[in-house]
Amino acid sequence: MRLRRWLPGLLACAVLLVAVAGAQPPGQPGSSAAGQPSPRRVWTVLTTSGSQPLPVVVVNGREYVSAPTLTSVFGVVLREDRAGGLVLTMGSRTVVVSLTQGLASVDGRVVSLPAAPVRQGSSWLLPVDVIERALAPGSSPRIDVRRRSSLIVVGSLTVPAVTGRSEPLATGTRITFAVAPAADPTVVHDDGRLLVRFAADALDADVAGIGTSQVLTGARVAPPATIELGLGAAFASYRAAEQREGGQLLLTIDILAATPTAPTPEPTGPAGEAATGQAPLDTPPLLPESTGLRTIVIDPGHGGTEQGARGPSGTLEKNVALAVARQLKAAIEARLGLRVLLTRSADETVALDARAAFANNNKADLFISLHANASVRSSVTGAEVFYVSLGEYGNASRASAAEPGAVLPALGGGERVVDLILWEMAQAQHLNESARLARLIEAEMRARVPMSPRAIQQAPFRVLVGANMPAVLVEMGFITNPTEEKRLNTPDYQSQVVNAIVSAVVGFKASRDRVGAPLATQQQDPP
Ligand SMILES: [Zn+2]
Repeated sequence: MRLRRWLPGLLACAVLLVAVAGAQPPGQPGSSAAGQPSPRRVWTVLTTSGSQPLPVVVVNGREYVSAPTLTSVFGVVLREDRAGGLVLTMGSRTVVVSLTQGLASVDGRVVSLPAAPVRQGSSWLLPVDVIERALAPGSSPRIDVRRRSSLIVVGSLTVPAVTGRSEPLATGTRITFAVAPAADPTVVHDDGRLLVRFAADALDADVAGIGTSQVLTGARVAPPATIELGLGAAFASYRAAEQREGGQLLLTIDILAATPTAPTPEPTGPAGEAATGQAPLDTPPLLPESTGLRTIVIDPGHGGTEQGARGPSGTLEKNVALAVARQLKAAIEARLGLRVLLTRSADETVALDARAAFANNNKADLFISLHANASVRSSVTGAEVFYVSLGEYGNASRASAAEPGAVLPALGGGERVVDLILWEMAQAQHLNESARLARLIEAEMRARVPMSPRAIQQAPFRVLVGANMPAVLVEMGFITNPTEEKRLNTPDYQSQVVNAIVSAVVGFKASRDRVGAPLATQQQDPP
């Protein structure tokens, strides 16, 4: 069964973030003395023909807009009603605002306002909310009030909500932007800044969550649609990745410092490609020192209280995974003489992060996770081989960031809390090799067992992202299909799967051995 339950959760979380930020009242500190109107700030009204300021005054900590401003900006006609109300007419719409209570009637429907109008000389000040609550709903052209950025968007303009935040990396700072709706970004390094430009008319941006660090001096919005990131003295390189999901864009920018602790620091260019700033945690060599295979970690999926998928006849994924893993270990040891470790050798619960950590701490050269697939449609069949998708990189980072640090076993005993993002970067280093191993396994399996129409796939499997070595996940078949459930239980099918993986490992090892010792620090990807 696939291990991506966390994905919907984090998307919901991201959406919620935007929603909550959007619903926030404007900042209230520093308001004027009671009853004394004072100029405060200027909202901006954006239309298809340009932008204009909307002056706002603050009374008792509340923002008000003057009647003449409503007239000049929105064409609202005001008159005082003898019955004790202010009548606003905008096109065919009639709004009656109570002069004594925070209430208005919009075409006969009552809406609340935070306060009643305030008289200013011969005119009136109305709570600025009157625009959002009374004038905007159902208006044509559309009026869209974006409180947090003090923007009023009139007509069909592209003004995505952009929420930025930063978090520390071992050697720099990660910035994530949640952009809804998605707008194409470009990131340009220019004169001590990174310019993050979005294909939009304007931005409803909140960059208050972006702090400062040695590589980052701050963030500011540069109208119309750019966010400027100031680069600190320690800046060496950056890299950006984007992910789209549900109409939203998640843009991740890692701003990296030169690694002062590296004994022979490689010069890194300004472009993201050259970035080498990710310091590993317990596993110093990011790139293999030697290409030979010595240790393989086999990961039987699930276990203990975590049963995985269940077949129609009651077969449990965790049991199939363990049975095949034991045979695979014996076969690799016997035929290749390699050290093979299992992340679990019994029916026990093992956390996902602990599995990759186990492989890392044992300096494994390959990580192979074994599973049986599940589908809501029992007709779905066939084996599939997965490796990690970098496309989900931003997402996975968010998921990690949303959780407390994972407690992972440390070299030399004990445990430590680890930032999962760094583990994810580890797998990114091995993507080519993971893909190559996946292709080899897929080809060997195809010769022996029925494959799914999508036999090789990429997915952001959490169990793989933390592995600092080539890593794949094999779905040996659909346990939810009655025929495949039976098959998964037979010694013959299990040994076909084992033989396929052993053959693939033999092929992988042979190519590694051919490449041999002269390999320096360059990653290679043989054709
Ligand atoms: Zn599974």
